[in-house]
Amino acid sequence: MEKKNIDWANLGFGYMQTDYRFVSNYKNGAWDDGMLTEDANVVINECAGVLQYAQTVFEGMKAYTTEDGRIVTFRPDLNAERMAQSAARLEMPVFPQDKFVEAVLKTIKANEAYVPPFGSGATLYVRPYMFGSNPVIGVKPAEEYQFRVLTTPVGPYFKGGVKPLTIRVCDFDRAAPNGTGHIKAGLNYAMSLHAIVDAHKQGYDENMYLDAATRTYVEETGGANFLFVTKDGKVVTPKSNSILPSITRRSLIQVAQEYLGLEAEEREIPLEEVKDMAECGLCGTAAVISPVGKIVDHGKEICLPSGMTEMGPVTKKLYETLTGIQMGTIKAPEGWIVEVK
Ligand SMILES: *Cc1c(COP(=O)(O)O)cnc(C)c1O
Repeated sequence: MEKKNIDWANLGFGYMQTDYRFVSNYKNGAWDDGMLTEDANVVINECAGVLQYAQTVFEGMKAYTTEDGRIVTFRPDLNAERMAQSAARLEMPVFPQDKFVEAVLKTIKANEAYVPPFGSGATLYVRPYMFGSNPVIGVKPAEEYQFRVLTTPVGPYFKGGVKPLTIRVCDFDRAAPNGTGHIKAGLNYAMSLHAIVDAHKQGYDENMYLDAATRTYVEETGGANFLFVTKDGKVVTPKSNSILPSITRRSLIQVAQEYLGLEAEEREIPLEEVKDMAECGLCGTAAVISPVGKIVDHGKEICLPSGMTEMGPVTKKLYETLTGIQMGTIKAPEGWIVEVK
């Protein structure tokens, strides 16, 4: 397979159109077989449910080239499961989970020429998504839906080295208790845009959202879960029913326990406790873990002891182990790596 002539190492995180995408339509209560198409445009009615009432959910995952030249994905079954949960919460029909994985693998295979080579640091980002497509004006779920999978090559996240982030405790709320914070829906992002644009204006990289009910517990950022390391070397991540169940975070907990022999737990983390932490990172598919160097709570600075120039030692081990598993240099737990053939 001839690769496209792309400067992999200098790719950013942006959209680059690739050759094929998968499309399946839901009509009269059933999904069709779906197919690959070269048409990158979606044509829908002006009154489509997604345009009027934001009925849309999505997923994000990556395809990697391993050292021995195989193309693999990481735990696609969990993306399928999570998209099913997201769809159910927004009264959308579930795209069958086995068909989801098949569609993802098929789309990656069709765009093999865009999967960055091993060692480039770049990956193929895969975006499955689904939306209400028929006209809806009275408030109710759409009756017709489209499921699509698009791919785009993305560059190495830590270009020119790791730079720990400075984040602020945010005065806006991300998700209500019993709301939609636990599903991957575009609506959770639309309302976070003002907060992130404002954070950037004030010189911060990200927002730390607190629990909306009491504003005392750490939740997550706009698009990544928190992971902390305590001074006695325990890995802890916030437990809340209004944060998105990150696949990266769940995998890192298992890596901490099974590969690094560390204690790891999911529990409520009061903001008050953050000043006593040794390390802090943000976890998600895009970066695996981005280290946090400083957290600013209304002028009060919390500086993590690992500093502003590198990843803390435990964060680094977690990062290296999980990326090693994804790139095929470290043996993966059963079922984590799925080959594209
Ligand atoms: C997608 C997402 C994450 C990260 O999840 P991964 O499965 O690890 O990529 C975290 N928080 C939010 C709000 C997200 O949408």
